[in-house]
Amino acid sequence: MTHMHDETISSPVIGIDLGTTNSVVAVCLDGRPRVLEEEGNALVPSVVGLAADGRLLVGEAARNQLAAFPDRTIASVKRRMGQAVKLSLAGTDYTPQEISAVILRSLKERAERALGCPVSRAVITVPAFFDEPQRQATLEAGRLAGLTVERIINEPTAASLVYHAGSTDRRHVIVYDLGGGTFDVSIVRIERGVVEVLSSKGDTSLGGDDFDELLARHVAARFQQEHDHDLMADAGTRWRLLTACERAKCALSTAASVQVVEEFIVMVRGRRVSLDVEVARHEYDELISGLVDRTIGCVDTAIRDSGLALSQIDELILVGGSTRTPLVQQRLRDELRREPRWSVDPDLAVALGAATQAASIAGQAVGPVLVDVATHTLGIAAVCGSPWSEQLSFVPILRRNSPLPARYEDLFSTHGDDQDLALIPVLQGESPRLEENREIGRLKLEGLNASADCDGKILVRFELSLDGTLQVMAVESRSGISQRLAIVGALSRMQEKDASAAAERLAALTGVAMLPADDAGGFEAGRHEPATASAGRPHEAVVRRARQALPGLGPEDTADVERLLRLIEEAAIAGDEPLLGGLVAELDDLLFYAAG
Ligand code: AMP
Repeated sequence: MTHMHDETISSPVIGIDLGTTNSVVAVCLDGRPRVLEEEGNALVPSVVGLAADGRLLVGEAARNQLAAFPDRTIASVKRRMGQAVKLSLAGTDYTPQEISAVILRSLKERAERALGCPVSRAVITVPAFFDEPQRQATLEAGRLAGLTVERIINEPTAASLVYHAGSTDRRHVIVYDLGGGTFDVSIVRIERGVVEVLSSKGDTSLGGDDFDELLARHVAARFQQEHDHDLMADAGTRWRLLTACERAKCALSTAASVQVVEEFIVMVRGRRVSLDVEVARHEYDELISGLVDRTIGCVDTAIRDSGLALSQIDELILVGGSTRTPLVQQRLRDELRREPRWSVDPDLAVALGAATQAASIAGQAVGPVLVDVATHTLGIAAVCGSPWSEQLSFVPILRRNSPLPARYEDLFSTHGDDQDLALIPVLQGESPRLEENREIGRLKLEGLNASADCDGKILVRFELSLDGTLQVMAVESRSGISQRLAIVGALSRMQEKDASAAAERLAALTGVAMLPADDAGGFEAGRHEPATASAGRPHEAVVRRARQALPGLGPEDTADVERLLRLIEEAAIAGDEPLLGGLVAELDDLLFYAAG
């Protein structure tokens, strides 16, 4: 192991590619991003397990026991991020973010060993297509691992950062990222050191694991024909088959055919039988061509959404281990009529880009500035149509591909007839059909008491910051009653009690206390949490009063109050308490004089 501590780095920020199959940690040293290897291994398998003696295993050691002890091993946890599921590890249930935290913690420790100093700050990448709950779950995992997550950035953005750091000419680049479990394609514009994502599209459950699964089914069918035995039926045997198929798949990237071999894989009629099936490249290509077509469909959509013609695209960058698949490259060449480019190992590009971004956060002069876009349309459910054919529909407010930070608002009416309560579901998705979008939260305005003769107006505002934090605010014009995103039953956001329970379970699992990095208020205090998280803090009362007063203020006061509210919010997010105190006092004064 090389010791790479640099005296000039006082508080290093690491870049982490938290992958479905493998994870990678990198850091910038002397202005250059470098992957932190151990014993020659850059990739840490994203697998967590418990050994027979109760020891916690992460990475290679955990992956090695996957086939033998599937009950005591968890792989591909990234696919579960943002879902309200429990994952069982040796009989105890964990959330996906707890398991991810174990992986993150081991990457943090790897960085500490390499740098020879404590590491507590990180940039973590996620697929551009990850939605809000999935991003939130990733943040929570980071905090459980004892990391301050400085920023969540999109994987394709990270990749383009590493390929184009420092270039000055304007280029349009397609970043095609096919990893183990997720697929992302983004069209980015790089100009004078600024990376702007023009559009992105993807599929959070499409990747090399699916190729393994298809190959395994094919091989199992051939074995069944010969031996009348289903290799997929038993979990342990299935894992051995999948592992053999993954090896064969990788070999097929360079060979025209392979033997899928696994010694003594099962007992058939009292006899130990080995697996030995030949698969040719063209057979494999047929198996996976439907999945590859799906990725090409996403590429077409992303190009269309970017507003560019194919002729305006300068370059195709491939990221992710599965882009080594010849059929993938062939289809991309045919479709895009250009040669893909790799100047960096596709497995490492994302982590290197994350390290580039991390270095600029740490104040080091590397890498271009980042401009990102919203990856989903966000809006609310509202009644639309004429009085005789009303229906509840999805009303988009902040559109997909809006540059970040984004702030959009819209005005809605209450429904007369003494409406006292407005429930506003917050949705994410691209379909005009309400039920095809995902509810990510809900606002509730109570005590409106609208009178029958005049409908009130509700202003709904969406703000999405660069780190993907969404804040939604609704204010009713006549009463001034307002609320910021109050999530009821959100899929992945943890409540404080869940957070401490998670920390306890993890402490028991790892034998180390794992508390959120800035644990002043548990999950309630972080800069990535929605603004409701800070409800109850002293400045909130003044802010609430200001919002209630807004509709009754003249234009000049309104502008002043709005400006202060914006500054207060920024100060609160940045955690700048002295600034916050000053601004709140100023707002308080302003309200006092405005009322007079
Ligand atoms: P990543 O998440 O980027 O590390 O990608 C991991 C995926 O890439 C896994 O599904 C691997 O099986 C796959 N992969 C790695 N090497 C190859 C290869 N030579 N040919 C095809 N797939 C590969």
